[in-house]
Amino acid sequence: MEMLSDRIKNMAESATLAMAAKAREYKSRGINVISLSLGEPDFKTPKHIQEGAKSAIDEGKYFAYPPVNGYADLRQAISDKFKKENNLDYRADQIVVSNGAKQSIANIFQAIINEGDEVIVFAPFWVSYSALIELAGGIPVYVNGGIDSDFKVTADQLSAAITPKTKAIIFSSPCNPTGSVFTKDELVSLSEVILKHDNLIVVSDEIYEHINYTGAHASIGALPGMNERTVTVNGMAKGFAMTGWRVGYIGAPLWLAKACNKVQGQFTSANCGIAQRAALTALTTDLGPTQEMSKEYLRRRGFVKELLDEIPGVKTNVPQGAFYFFPDVSAYFGKSDGETVINNASDLSMYILDNAHVSVVTGEAFGDPNCIRLSYAASEENLREAIKRIKEALAKLS
Ligand code: GLU
Repeated sequence: MEMLSDRIKNMAESATLAMAAKAREYKSRGINVISLSLGEPDFKTPKHIQEGAKSAIDEGKYFAYPPVNGYADLRQAISDKFKKENNLDYRADQIVVSNGAKQSIANIFQAIINEGDEVIVFAPFWVSYSALIELAGGIPVYVNGGIDSDFKVTADQLSAAITPKTKAIIFSSPCNPTGSVFTKDELVSLSEVILKHDNLIVVSDEIYEHINYTGAHASIGALPGMNERTVTVNGMAKGFAMTGWRVGYIGAPLWLAKACNKVQGQFTSANCGIAQRAALTALTTDLGPTQEMSKEYLRRRGFVKELLDEIPGVKTNVPQGAFYFFPDVSAYFGKSDGETVINNASDLSMYILDNAHVSVVTGEAFGDPNCIRLSYAASEENLREAIKRIKEALAKLS
């Protein structure tokens, strides 16, 4: 007999992780699946960061419970990074280090949402935002930026969505899943709307900060008047190829940092001490390896775009950051290969997995049912082969 809570029964499974699990299952059955579903760097964590973790083990000082919000020297390094790279003013006591940026976001929503509060989510959005808002008792309110506006929500759209119940706004820039990047001017327009309303918090997810091809990452929290209104979320996973180390962090107004500390103290305590020392190494050494990885993502974006453009009915934007394409594939809806009818993006993702042996994620999970997401954090060989197979499988639909 199952005795699940309604809360968990109604919670959607993480679509990215579910597709990754499905790809693993196919592989375990001997099927040669190319996985473009999970967004994670295909690079190894740079050597000097690995060495940082090894010496922390050898020092023998980091095996006990760390402070819940993270080691003081790591929080200071994060505070310095925010100032130097983003012109953000968060002192070390305004930093909370968590078990991945995902936990940072969960902490924030647990800390600020009362039952029935609304959170404006810029769509397309990263899959877990909606689930984490709902788990905290909030109501996600989606505001859509379509492909024709490079998937970017405008200040007017934001203004129209704000109600007396709006508690917060969340978006990522560079964006997962679209790769869109807000320019500083666009963020200024958004901030002008936000500053007209008291008690509105911005959750700015900047985890793809270092994978930004525009050459200029802008942080909304650095704009005039926005420091007290913004919690900036970041982490080590994407820029430093450290997904499995699970180190995320926030800079927040002090009251919110303290509340996140309290939430985390009850849920998990601090994250792994050795992983924190690795993060300290990463944040206090130069960004050379990070920039090299970003250059390689940019190169891949180039040929992946060309290959996708050769597939009839597949429409893409030009992502300015992160490592995803989010093509509109709605031209295939209603078509069939004689056996399977494709009604939507979820059907198409499964069709691609079954027929092309490539795993991608349905756009429905990201709030755009016309699209699918492909990660290009994969080798050139795999990317070329995967897109060739997708093209062949799609050609069978009519
Ligand atoms: N952020 C990555 C993605 O979107 C990791 C998977 C996840 O945690 O959802 O694929």
